Amino acid sequence: MARIDALLRAARSQIGGHLESGEAEWLLAHLLGQSRGWLYAHGDHELDAEVAASFDALLARRVAGEPVAYLTGHRGFWHFDLQVTPATLIPRPETELLVELALARLPAGRVLRVADLGTGSGAIALAIAHERPLAQVVATDASAAALDVARANAQALGLGNIAFREGDWCAPLVDEVFDLIASNPPYLADDDDHLGRGDLRFEPRSALASGPDGLEAFRAIARDAPRHLHPGGWLLFEHGWDQGDAVRAVLDAAGFIDVQTAPDLAQRDRISFGRRAA
Ligand code: GLN
Repeated sequence: MARIDALLRAARSQIGGHLESGEAEWLLAHLLGQSRGWLYAHGDHELDAEVAASFDALLARRVAGEPVAYLTGHRGFWHFDLQVTPATLIPRPETELLVELALARLPAGRVLRVADLGTGSGAIALAIAHERPLAQVVATDASAAALDVARANAQALGLGNIAFREGDWCAPLVDEVFDLIASNPPYLADDDDHLGRGDLRFEPRSALASGPDGLEAFRAIARDAPRHLHPGGWLLFEHGWDQGDAVRAVLDAAGFIDVQTAPDLAQRDRISFGRRAA
């Protein structure tokens, strides 16, 4: 038997330097199916040896680098608690800005068609489908395993206005036309050092890297998207903080107009977008 407060104290003193603040609490709360608040209120609660051993095993995996979101199987995004697995990228807070910029271009109360290319856990498609119940959303991914996760998330949220389709970028859109296409595609160069660091080591490489300059997915999507957009329809991309110029150039070259970049909360280039010429 071990008390919760003693277990957490031991975790912090033994391996605290390897963990972000609060991670030990997060993992124990997950293991017990309780909130972190519950842990603080029940410090004197005794856990049996098996639970303590499972906690140690989770801590060891975290110290070895596995992302917390994969260890718990969840990550918060928008107003949701999404299921994530190693088949999907872990949703990032920056992507909520992409959702906000998309919603600003999608009037409520109208039937709209929206596509999310490379949906991963479904983050973008789910948020748009939730905020625009009249929209018909198509979410694509080349990974069947990722689509299974996205589908499970849609089901858990009771969202019926999303269709999931397997395939590369615009290919599963067939001959359909949309009001808006959004994508947070892979955008690191194949030899980017970041691929060997932190959480990225555990995330699917196909969700992270895109050719020698990291721009291949943007080029492929921008090339095919005009055929799948109404005149005036929007294409929005999330990208790296140093890719604003390059992504605007890709959009310009593909004939998009009103091309702009929006900064994230840290004032770094993050989302670039343009509209199909009439
Ligand atoms: N669209 C998903 C997200 O924003 C996945 C992105 C990706 O795998 N590159 O989380």
